[in-house]
Amino acid sequence: MNKSILFSDITIVTPHDGAPVSIVEHAYCSVTGNKIVYVGTSKDEASEALKDASEVFQYDGKNKILCPTFANAHGHTPMSIFRNIADDRSLQDWLFGQIIPREDRMIADDFYYGNLLTLAEMIEGGTGCVANMYDGALLIAKGAVETGFRVQQTSMGKKCVDGKWSVDRTSVDELNSFIANEGKGLITHSLLVHSIYLYPEDFYKPLAELAKEYDLPVSVHISETITENDNCQKSYGCSPVQKLDWAGLLNDKTVAAHCVHLTPEDRKILADRKVWVAHNPSSNMKLASGFADMVNMQKDGVRLCIGSDGAASNNNQDMFMEMRLASFMAKGTTLDPTVLTAEDVFTMSTRNGYLACGFEDCGIIEQGMRADLQIIDYDCPQMWPLGNPLSALVYSCGPKCVESVMIDGQFVLYKHELKTIDMEKVKAETKKTMERLK
Ligand SMILES: [Zn+2]
Repeated sequence: MNKSILFSDITIVTPHDGAPVSIVEHAYCSVTGNKIVYVGTSKDEASEALKDASEVFQYDGKNKILCPTFANAHGHTPMSIFRNIADDRSLQDWLFGQIIPREDRMIADDFYYGNLLTLAEMIEGGTGCVANMYDGALLIAKGAVETGFRVQQTSMGKKCVDGKWSVDRTSVDELNSFIANEGKGLITHSLLVHSIYLYPEDFYKPLAELAKEYDLPVSVHISETITENDNCQKSYGCSPVQKLDWAGLLNDKTVAAHCVHLTPEDRKILADRKVWVAHNPSSNMKLASGFADMVNMQKDGVRLCIGSDGAASNNNQDMFMEMRLASFMAKGTTLDPTVLTAEDVFTMSTRNGYLACGFEDCGIIEQGMRADLQIIDYDCPQMWPLGNPLSALVYSCGPKCVESVMIDGQFVLYKHELKTIDMEKVKAETKKTMERLK
């Protein structure tokens, strides 16, 4: 018999494919196993959908919003161990002077517990999925499956010996094997191609061939800073987008983080290749990278989603804040309050993020979709009186209003309590890590 739950008399806010975000008050949502089996306003039909369940758990939705969990489209989950240790610096100094020297000293526990710490923070903020660009794939995937959290995890697919890069299939095969045997449908796979500035020119095409051979998406940073663009022009006489396109790394599964400094030609290439662009408003402002031109990317038909970037450059994983900043940044830089609406950024943070991460049946509250959802309690000063529920989610809400989170039919947060992560253990282990890597 399936475990089942009936959410009653609740406000449902959800994006749809090919239709506007809908808001339905006094709604019902039935969940059996890991699937949504009914969404609508009929209590009888909602109950009928659960008639084969041995037991139905009743959830009273008074003063609550039910909406999809967020899919954070760009993160580096273990980097919570570097939170608040290297701030107010340029990206070059921050990355090469502070972060990479510490990363070189990381051990397995640092990846494992750093990842869990970030997943805990994400869950408490209503996020149920992350596109994670980082080494330590098996440790991260293991922690995610134990937690019941969705991750699009990168594998390295390469090694560097005595300064010479070469393709190495071991990490790709290992992650594929984990996904097939232990992934429980929670893990998807992408190939890490850090950026146009980390590898020699003749190594980009082999990486593209490797991605093609395994039918893997590519996870890459593009045009994060003016320095990156200037160096690319000096080395290759073109923009990072053009060079990555030359290598064959841009297609409809590529997730490109940042894209702060693009030319109109770059935007056209990204739109034509159907690349997913992951916008990271906090990180781009904190590292003074600049303001991604989301409005023109949207006009040009680029596919857009939103990410937090790692906790070392943000310094939190709050997708409510990223949605709000994405919208405000677009309005502030264009002097036009009508651009990048609440509906736009909500869809980017939910449905688009899941599509970018390779989870086609998540991110919409509809019959037949996976039960990946969050419950927002609006019975609090921050969200009262509710007004438009969609505006409230984007412009008023924050992690402390997230009451419960369900991923794949399982509550990972229930009434503000984490159900699958031992926070005391995670806090003790990550504190040890921070002291060791100081
Ligand atoms: Zn990043």
